[in-house]
Amino acid sequence: NEGLGSWPARRARKTPGRTALLHEGAPTSYAVLHERTTRLGHALRAAGVRRGDRVAYLGPNHPSFLETFFAAGLLGAVFVPLNTRLAAPEIAYQLTDSGTSVLVHSPAQAAVVDELRGTVDLRRTVTVGPEYEELLAASSSDPVDEPVGSDEVGLIMYTSGTTGRPKGAMLTHANLTWNAVNVLVDSDLTADEVALVSAPLFHTAALNMLTLPVLLKGGVCVLTGSFDPDAALDLIEEHRVTFMFGVPAMYSRLAGRPRWQQADLSSLRTLTCGGAPVPGSLIETYQHRGLSFLQGYGMTEAAPGALSLDAEHAVSKAGSAGVPHFFSEVRVARPDLTPVDVGETGEVFVRGPHVMPGYWGLPEGSAAAFTDGWFRTGDAARIDSDGYVTIVDRLKDMIISGGENIYPAEVENALLAHPDIAECAVIGVPDDEWGEVGRAVVVPREGAVLDPAKILTSLAGRLAKYKIPKTLVVAGELPRTASGKLAKQQVRARYGAL
Ligand code: AMP
Ligand code: MG
Repeated sequence: NEGLGSWPARRARKTPGRTALLHEGAPTSYAVLHERTTRLGHALRAAGVRRGDRVAYLGPNHPSFLETFFAAGLLGAVFVPLNTRLAAPEIAYQLTDSGTSVLVHSPAQAAVVDELRGTVDLRRTVTVGPEYEELLAASSSDPVDEPVGSDEVGLIMYTSGTTGRPKGAMLTHANLTWNAVNVLVDSDLTADEVALVSAPLFHTAALNMLTLPVLLKGGVCVLTGSFDPDAALDLIEEHRVTFMFGVPAMYSRLAGRPRWQQADLSSLRTLTCGGAPVPGSLIETYQHRGLSFLQGYGMTEAAPGALSLDAEHAVSKAGSAGVPHFFSEVRVARPDLTPVDVGETGEVFVRGPHVMPGYWGLPEGSAAAFTDGWFRTGDAARIDSDGYVTIVDRLKDMIISGGENIYPAEVENALLAHPDIAECAVIGVPDDEWGEVGRAVVVPREGAVLDPAKILTSLAGRLAKYKIPKTLVVAGELPRTASGKLAKQQVRARYGAL
């Protein structure tokens, strides 16, 4: 097995007694992770899972998330992590689109899963807790024998787009391995790392920038089910955490706690921050406590790391997302891929062994995402004379709120389903806590009187809460281009700063 499914066995061969995972004080050693993963592999096979089949997981960070991930890998099956913040119809879409056959979920998600049963065709569901434990206990711990190649798809992660439905980015075992290698090369991780995994594992960063590199090296991952800044400070002190990843909103909430100044942060060595622009004021706040960020820029489709700014250049190159990872290529270029000059703005293109082969079930969408083998990111950037890249804007219409991406098209479609709404546009507006939040600008149908609060509540249950705009403005008309297209820039200029 050349894939990630073999990692627990390889680690168990080298460091069986070391702790791999810590969750609510309970440790899982590498030997135990290997054994439990093997048992789950047999259980999944007994449930009919074969090479290439999809196995989904719905739940907060928990050892069973990683056990399911590795067990699927043992069988050559494809792991599909689902975002717990999504509304039931959004989860149903991803399960159906991926053709998932087995779903492992936390007890807290049982009600949602029950709601899905009528609409989604699942062969089997397993609830974490007694059912999951009995399944493991009843299964063999003999090695799972399945030849899995590194170019097989091991993971499908859904990511939204500027049009229509979310798309499943397919990542191969090789993609994930190269990304982990890039992280190890570019961030001096050791076998003594203690990582705080409090960002959700169902997003690429916590899984691929933090957890997998640490497990590859034989360190400890402290898993928390949600991000609570006070609990995070407790865990940092208690476990002498050395390494963490967060989106800027997480780091800013951490520094906002009254305890921040007194907390013992002396164990922290590597703080990775990415997923959204990192404000200069946040960098300063951390510098006051002697801490600097290793900044990262990437995307789900690139597994995800493309650029990184090391601690050595954190101050001299503040604001930049750095240079390409060791095994990555980044080009800031015009649409025909000719590089822009120093100081000019161009689009970011990424190429390398960590970049996905394409989107699940979307050959045309996949082809459209690449130009001559380079992944088109939809982000605008500048490059300086030392080769450092600064992300300056998003060409794509996307809002980043507390680390969750919101694609306005999805929200606009949901709003347009309302009988009293004739036209609408969703834009991002700055927010101290979340970075950005959504604002809807809507034009009522003739004669209709809109109640903003009522319209926003009507979206609950259909869209994830984070996607629901925080404010709604009623407008007489929306600015349009000569050809009748919505002029988003003008909507932003007119309604962004109310
Ligand atoms: P995702 O689909 O969740 O992987 O989000 C990827 C997108 O997040 C990128 O294409 C960027 O628009 C944004 N992003 C990620 N990292 C950064 C960063 N360091 N600075 C600015 N934007 C970022
Ligand atoms: Mg994306």
